Amino acid sequence: MDVLIVGASAAGLSTAEALRRLGHDGRLTLLDAEPHLPYDRPPLSKQVLAGAWEPERARLRGQAQLDALEAEFVRGERAVSLDVAGRAVTTASGRVLRADAVVLATGLTPCRLPGQGGLAGVHVLRGLDDALTLRAHLTGGTRLVVVGEGVLGGEIAATARGLGLEVTLAGLGPAVLGDQLGPFVSDLLTRTHAARGVRLRLGVAVESLEGEGGRVT
Ligand SMILES: Cc1cc2nc3c(=O)[nH]c(=O)nc-3n(C[C@H](O)[C@H](O)[C@H](O)COP(=O)(O)OP(=O)(O)OC[C@H]3O[C@@H](n4cnc5c(N)ncnc54)[C@H](O)[C@@H]3O)c2cc1C
Repeated sequence: MDVLIVGASAAGLSTAEALRRLGHDGRLTLLDAEPHLPYDRPPLSKQVLAGAWEPERARLRGQAQLDALEAEFVRGERAVSLDVAGRAVTTASGRVLRADAVVLATGLTPCRLPGQGGLAGVHVLRGLDDALTLRAHLTGGTRLVVVGEGVLGGEIAATARGLGLEVTLAGLGPAVLGDQLGPFVSDLLTRTHAARGVRLRLGVAVESLEGEGGRVT
């Protein structure tokens, strides 16, 4: 039985490993739009963004572990359609991959805000390249507005503030990580951000982004 896994990150890779562990000896293909070898996302908003880690340190597995899977890694190719009946996936370059079983492990994509398209100076943080691009812009004198008072927003605000930037954190909830941590801990966290100099604009829905001369203001 041939298995094709779309998405070679934490979920896709551990599915491949579990299949091999359970004795699957058929062909195994992992397809991912990313050009990079599988990497862990948690350090992207912390050590990688702060410049404390080289990107290689965030890799999920070493080369020997990947080789031991005896899988084919197809990287840098985005799946654009799935033929369920025919068990076939077509990529953006027109390549067709067939298998007896297809696993979709494609994760999430960040929300975008009205007005975001085409404006310079706006970042999302989901992948390694996003983290490196944002990192390159986190230089002294830059004013940063982080939209989202959840886990990533809080981490990015703290990391950027640690690098000396002027940071404003805006979000819908009344406290940083309020939904996840409850009032006591989120209140403590909110006060810690404020004490470290993060300007908080909480209980605020960001409706759209505005720019001047093609650059966000
Ligand atoms: C910056 C950041 C920090 C985080 N920090 C933490 C943390 O501290 N603790 C924690 O528990 N969790 C954290 N998370 C969440 C954690 O990383 C995710 O839960 C985890 O990555 C989910 O793994 P996944 O394999 O399901 O999806 P993803 O890691 O999103 O992987 C999906 C993969 O599918 C690929 N893909 C998507 N669409 C296609 C397509 N059409 N064709 C081909 N390939 C495709 C993508 O390129 C990607 O490699 C963080 C996430 C981010 C972004």
